[in-house]
Amino acid sequence: MSKFLPDYIDKLTAYSSAKSEKLTGTTWLNANENPYAQNITLSIDDLNRYPEPQPEAVIQRYAQYAKVETNQVLMTRGADEGIELLIRTFCESAKDSIAIFLPTYGMYKVSAQSHNIAINALSQESLQTSTISELASQIGDSKLVFICNPNNPTGALVTTKRLENLSDALPDNTILVVDEAYIEFCSEYDNSQLINTRKNVVILRTLSKAFALAGLRCGFTLAPTTILSAMKKVLAPYPVSSVVASIAKNALGNDSISSMRRQVVILNKLKQELIDWLKTSSHVSQVLSGEGNFVTLKLKNKQSMQVSSEMGLIMRPFTLFDSQHWLRISIGNNTELDQVKTWLESLNKIQSSKR
Ligand SMILES: *Cc1c(COP(=O)(O)O)cnc(C)c1O
Repeated sequence: MSKFLPDYIDKLTAYSSAKSEKLTGTTWLNANENPYAQNITLSIDDLNRYPEPQPEAVIQRYAQYAKVETNQVLMTRGADEGIELLIRTFCESAKDSIAIFLPTYGMYKVSAQSHNIAINALSQESLQTSTISELASQIGDSKLVFICNPNNPTGALVTTKRLENLSDALPDNTILVVDEAYIEFCSEYDNSQLINTRKNVVILRTLSKAFALAGLRCGFTLAPTTILSAMKKVLAPYPVSSVVASIAKNALGNDSISSMRRQVVILNKLKQELIDWLKTSSHVSQVLSGEGNFVTLKLKNKQSMQVSSEMGLIMRPFTLFDSQHWLRISIGNNTELDQVKTWLESLNKIQSSKR
């Protein structure tokens, strides 16, 4: 096979998720999905026609929701397509690089590498503690700087002031991309207004997390119009199916937004309860309590993960800070989170039966 492939594609490892690995399970807490599914009935009578390239009704509603202008909104197939488009539009293959702060969301790297763009791998620690001029010099001539805010999987946040100072310190041809996939869970830290005060800031959003529509594949890029015009040159002609547009329009109606916000309150409360509980567990050595609909923890014993998969409880293992003992748990409903407790409590029994 490899004789057909460019070297950089041959070397790639595809993004692996529990879904692509076809894991079997009964409780899914691995992909930061919202546990509350909506039942959607559709009636569409013009599927013989191509859809609007950018469905006006959806763009209008999202602009209103995000408090930006309609010409500052681009609708894509998930935020993932926004990431990919940014890279294809602004980075030159085999020449440019993107800067990322590890550990962070995996798709920045996958998208970059599939276009032969180098990775300037910086650390979350540096993002939090380095001075702005140190950061700018580490970023160097990277064309895009991806800051996941709050960060998946650590939950860490960067302040608005720091983002502003960083965007001011970057070279003229560098764009700061703030990935706000989880912003609904901490809406007071929303930085969408930066696209009005800065020419080099882009915000990524999605309906996959708080809006409970991961299966829909719908995301938004918020940016100054000059940046969006460039991206539109690279975007496929009909990226958004009319089916997706119709569901997204409903999801962005006032009632649906209120219901999303009520769910966020419930999920945030469940998260806090889970964090408090985990901190008392003798099998957990560290809990990263940050923002987002997930909790990332360090297990004392890696074997504990085996027990959870045998129970059908699927969570997301990570190698973080050079240790394979990390696990990210998405905030599911009460019953699902009880499974987490049952799992950790069952370890007590296994431990005492071994004694
Ligand atoms: C889930 C996630 C995305 C992807 O969102 P889609 O809209 O489903 O493509 C992007 N960024 C981060 C940080 C995520 O966790």
